[in-house]
Amino acid sequence: MEEFNGAGKPRALICSDWSECLSPNGPFDPISFNYPEYSAELEDIFRKYTGNIISLGRALDMIINEKGLTLSQNQMERYMEQEFSMYKGVRELIQWAISNNILFVINSTGFQGYFQMAFRMGLIPRLLYISANPMIRFEDDDSTTWFDIYETTDKPRNTEKILSINNIPPQNTVLIGDSGGDGPHFEWGAKAGAKLIGSMPKWSLIRYCRERGIRIHHMFGVIYGEGEKRDPEREKEIDFSSLISEIKRLLNI
Ligand SMILES: [Mg+2]
Repeated sequence: MEEFNGAGKPRALICSDWSECLSPNGPFDPISFNYPEYSAELEDIFRKYTGNIISLGRALDMIINEKGLTLSQNQMERYMEQEFSMYKGVRELIQWAISNNILFVINSTGFQGYFQMAFRMGLIPRLLYISANPMIRFEDDDSTTWFDIYETTDKPRNTEKILSINNIPPQNTVLIGDSGGDGPHFEWGAKAGAKLIGSMPKWSLIRYCRERGIRIHHMFGVIYGEGEKRDPEREKEIDFSSLISEIKRLLNI
């Protein structure tokens, strides 16, 4: 599998959310899968979090600390084998970025353990940096640098750190997000001069941006109105390799 080998200085950054954005998987799905008896409660907690009603920290505290639902490596592996999925063309998009000297970073509230397992199983091309939630993670991996997310406001902080480490100006950055959880990332990006793409954008993101006068430069995939339910069948038809030309346009490359 092709990897970003660090040869040459990256000229730009694509920093994307993962859950329901590049993948139909939700951040809490590995837990619901392994504890099906809790799936309705977990779904409720997840929706409250993506709708900005409760914080991510509170959601995970309820799930992991109050209900005691954590995962072993074997449980995560079983979930990945049966449920891992990404949208059509996402692998091509990531590999296009890697081979064009564009740093591709996943910035997600998903668990670090999910991404560790995805790399090990060859499901996602290995990336240099991941910003994700450390509440479930396994032994260290030696070629990825991990940044921790406890709240969605950590997303812009981690993106800033990665830009600074690599000397990439924020103007050469594309942020991709789908829900209100990406709101703080977009808010920072709009101020910093990054380009914003709503992928499978939910009303919670559109509303967040509208209320704050944040312009989303490109809306991609299935665009949801207020109160509209997700349509996984329509989402499956969207081909992310068609996003490449839009990203080239936004980055002026
Ligand atoms: Mg998401």
